[in-house]
Amino acid sequence: MSTATLTIDLAAIASNWRALAQIAQVETAAVVKADAYGLDAARVAKQLAQAGARQFFVAVAEEGVALRRALGSGPVISVFSGHMAGDAQAIRSANLVPLINSLDQMLRHVEALPGHPFGIQLDTGMNRLGMEPAEWAALREIALAQNPTLIMSHLACADEAGHPMNEQQRAVFEDMTEGLDVPRSLSATGGTLLGEAYHYDMVRPGIGLYGGLPFEQARPVVTLDIPVIQIRRVAAGETVGYANAWTAKAPTTIATISAGYADGLIRAMGAQAKLFADDIPVPIVGRVSMDLISVDITVLQEPRESLQLIGAHQSVDDVADCTGTIGYEILTSLGARYKRVWTV
Ligand SMILES: *Cc1c(COP(=O)(O)O)cnc(C)c1O
Repeated sequence: MSTATLTIDLAAIASNWRALAQIAQVETAAVVKADAYGLDAARVAKQLAQAGARQFFVAVAEEGVALRRALGSGPVISVFSGHMAGDAQAIRSANLVPLINSLDQMLRHVEALPGHPFGIQLDTGMNRLGMEPAEWAALREIALAQNPTLIMSHLACADEAGHPMNEQQRAVFEDMTEGLDVPRSLSATGGTLLGEAYHYDMVRPGIGLYGGLPFEQARPVVTLDIPVIQIRRVAAGETVGYANAWTAKAPTTIATISAGYADGLIRAMGAQAKLFADDIPVPIVGRVSMDLISVDITVLQEPRESLQLIGAHQSVDDVADCTGTIGYEILTSLGARYKRVWTV
């Protein structure tokens, strides 16, 4: 078998959830959108439900329907994109809670599904989703009369603890929700780490569950082991890979491993990222191909059957740094070809 093995530690995800719940000391939800950041929403959510999570968030209604099938009837499943045209059937049958983000959505929801639970999403400055202060002021009494189950907003800069935007958005959120008797939620992983003032009644971590920054204390969740297909010796002056992008300065042993940019190992990763043979780092040489990467393993005494890209020695965020992106993108890009193994 030559496909790489992606190992997902479900016990570590549950442990990260418990650690964040311990920090927050309020209801701690789990964000499992985008198939739980690529790690399998059904498996992840079941593990977290077992650990005690009762609230789950997805991006779109279709994800909510699949999650309901996996979780059964108990947990609350909320949908960030709210109530879109054509969603009523899914929202009703899977008992989803749309987070209403505009007047249009509010009207659509109460018309299609009167009495069906919903939450409210407010925009406190990120200008992405949610009602802005003026829209909310106009709609507030009507919305409150329909008994929303949650009022939430989202922080734009919470991964930077000192960023003035955090306090600014918190103040706007306070202002927009003051005196309301509805549970409130402002924070994802970053906000959860900003302290009690940001916790309100519920926090909604995603990336921290999956071992990513800004939750530095997170237990690592993912390891990626890539099989070596072939090993060759190249002489000084020989080149490796497309565009002759790398030239051997001395006799070199090259391992060709079985993963590439079609598996989410983006081409821009180039020479910055390393592979590991146990704890020995070995550099990538030349271009990342669609299905293959070349690695200089000259330092190794013995050939290996596989090399590790993500694991104890190089985190998802380390790989992200090599490519100028963020851990979220590396996780959600992890390829469909990997053999996935979930450990508990
Ligand atoms: C994705 C998302 C979250 C989770 O964010 P993390 O940074 O992954 O913890 C929470 N709330 C909203 C609105 C989101 O879009």
